[in-house]
Amino acid sequence: MPAKGRLREPAIHLLEAAGLGPEQPGEGALAFPCRDAPVDVLLVRAADIPEYVQDAVVDCGITGADLVRERGASVEELLRLDFGGCTLEAAVPQEAEIREISELAGLRVATVFPRLARELLAERGAEVELVEVTGSVEVAPRLGLADAVVDLVSSGSTLRTNGLRSLGILFSSEAVLIAEPEPAPGTEELARVLGSVVDARKTRYLMMNAPAEAVEKITALVPGSRSPSVLPLQEDGMVAVHVLVPAAQVWQLLPQLEAVGASAILLVPVERMLA
Ligand code: AMP
Repeated sequence: MPAKGRLREPAIHLLEAAGLGPEQPGEGALAFPCRDAPVDVLLVRAADIPEYVQDAVVDCGITGADLVRERGASVEELLRLDFGGCTLEAAVPQEAEIREISELAGLRVATVFPRLARELLAERGAEVELVEVTGSVEVAPRLGLADAVVDLVSSGSTLRTNGLRSLGILFSSEAVLIAEPEPAPGTEELARVLGSVVDARKTRYLMMNAPAEAVEKITALVPGSRSPSVLPLQEDGMVAVHVLVPAAQVWQLLPQLEAVGASAILLVPVERMLA
């Protein structure tokens, strides 16, 4: 797992949520055994993880999909982890006349991702002169080092602060679990446990009471709920409806459920989900 940077904390939280929390997640520790599971975690640079996995130094790794592609590692992506989301984008100074990625052809482009930038720009018809930097890419145009940049963006505020305008997305990334093409024993079980947490985080358990005749309307409103649990209540004609809902749609759904007669609505988090 990443020893520092943006991916460290969410990766540790994922292990904890999966019941594999570190024995002692000491700040400076470079390795730790997991609590309650025969898993040892090594903390290394996120950018080195694809190679560690490819070379079988470790059985699997959590790192950014961007770093996996940049390293060209021959590893298998077992799971998307739903954190560390960002996009690799091409950007130019606000005042530049360039509007399309293809117009970057022949220009100097600064990036920390030379391999990805070359491949993805070429796919869009732009063979460029790459300027490899190790950080602070966004200042390269201002320093006269490059005409454009290819950099990771999450909110877009760094681009704006540095007077840059995006020309578009080249690659969408998020944290992933990777393993060797022939995963070592136990790796797939680990992926399944982590996957059950990733899926559960995107889901809520919704319970409500409703008149029996409203069940059809409720089912129609809840995405993907062809078969909710319907339990009789003591009160005649009333039922309890239990259903899983996508967390992102809850805010729209609750008023609609009330409108068709649902009451006593309870929404609870889901810890694990195994389909
Ligand atoms: P770090 O160790 O903090 O440099 O994190 C590097 C990784 O975090 C990147 O390779 C991406 O996979 C991920 N990431 C997510 N959002 C961003 C962002 N806005 N800028 C840079 N990296 C990001």
